[in-house]
Amino acid sequence: MTRAAFRYVHWTMGRETAPEAPEMVHEMECTTCNAESGAQDDFEAARDWAFAHTGGNPSHRGYREIVTRFWRMTPEGGGGT
Ligand SMILES: [Zn+2]
Repeated sequence: MTRAAFRYVHWTMGRETAPEAPEMVHEMECTTCNAESGAQDDFEAARDWAFAHTGGNPSHRGYREIVTRFWRMTPEGGGGT
């Protein structure tokens, strides 16, 4: 039999507020050749990459956007780091 002790802690989950964490990160992938824009803090940069990619490869017209958002768990009552 396995026994384990758990400290009973309530957690809240909120958006990451660390100054180095972007609100979200955008990445475009071409659905024809899987070329990637790379992670961009600004959607416009990912979009511009897609325009340039289609400009150089006119038959590549479909894109998949991957959006990453950052979250953080904090114990109620503070004390989180
Ligand atoms: Zn492509």
